[in-house]
Amino acid sequence: RAKAQGPRSYHFYTRDLDEQIHERMQLEQAMRRGLIQGQFLLHYQPRVDLKTGRMLSMEALVRWQHPDWGMVMPGRFIPLAEDTGFIVELGAQVLRLACLQIQAWQAAGHLVPPVAVNLSAQEFRQADLVERIMAILKDTGVESRMIEFEITESAAMSSIEQTSQTLTTLHQLGFGISIDDFGTAYSSLNYLKRLPVQTLKIDQSFVRDLADDPAGHPQDAAIVRAIIGLANNLGLGVIAEGVETPIQQAFLLEHGCHIGQGYLFSRPVDAQAMTTWLSLQQT
Ligand code: C2E
Ligand code: MG
Ligand code: MG
Ligand code: MG
Repeated sequence: RAKAQGPRSYHFYTRDLDEQIHERMQLEQAMRRGLIQGQFLLHYQPRVDLKTGRMLSMEALVRWQHPDWGMVMPGRFIPLAEDTGFIVELGAQVLRLACLQIQAWQAAGHLVPPVAVNLSAQEFRQADLVERIMAILKDTGVESRMIEFEITESAAMSSIEQTSQTLTTLHQLGFGISIDDFGTAYSSLNYLKRLPVQTLKIDQSFVRDLADDPAGHPQDAAIVRAIIGLANNLGLGVIAEGVETPIQQAFLLEHGCHIGQGYLFSRPVDAQAMTTWLSLQQT
């Protein structure tokens, strides 16, 4: 394709590609070093009762504190970590960090709600995923009911046989399971019947345009209502992502979605700020 545009653009094209490959290699090396040096940490975002604002659970979201680059957000490195398989090691570290934090909070006397951890499709492909997870829980002394796994719709659908087996085992062991970014994967809904899922998370892309005028976005409004209806009819919980305005909050409540997560209530915050939230909630 590049060749057809003439030798000159071909040259630029390849140089560009070389640069990209080089950049990716550097990023991967930096990630591996970062893992060894403890540069990854978790922020926590509350999921709240949309009526009262009370926190019901929270989601752990990984951040990379790089010595030169500062705080790197997951959108910058998770895709590469998934491509290279590094996500398997990173994911184990994320679960370990979440468990250590739960343990620390509980030891300090806090009443800790469940913590949701994101799982990538690649992590699912490990035959010994369940054993690895259980080893981390045992190590840190955290009970499985404290952890919920979020898997994306596309991850849930790929190799449904294996996914369903793994999720069934995790469910039997007491973990919560939710489908992240629900509605984005052009999926057959059939897979929902076969997976032990308790919660659908409405992707924020559908919630976003309801921010100031739901009536002006009839399609998004219809999709959000349909997902809420689907969840209710299947006996599943439903969580709205990306709730930023009181108008979205009111719309969701009016249509039967009672749990939300978003900047209206809190951005993801560091462990210290979440500790404050936990203390305030108990009083
Ligand atoms: P996600 O799991 O769907 O997480 C929700 C993302 O939406 C988070 O971005 C969160 O900060 C952001 N968000 C929350 N409320 C609002 C809001 O009101 N408005 C807007 N505009 N955004 C909001 P974040 O932390 O940058 O994470 C991005 C994605 O990276 C996550 O999407 C998830 O797919 C992935 N990710 C994050 N941490 C992990 C991890 O530990 N493991 C894996 N495998 N993936 C992770
Ligand atoms: Mg998530
Ligand atoms: Mg999501
Ligand atoms: Mg998302």
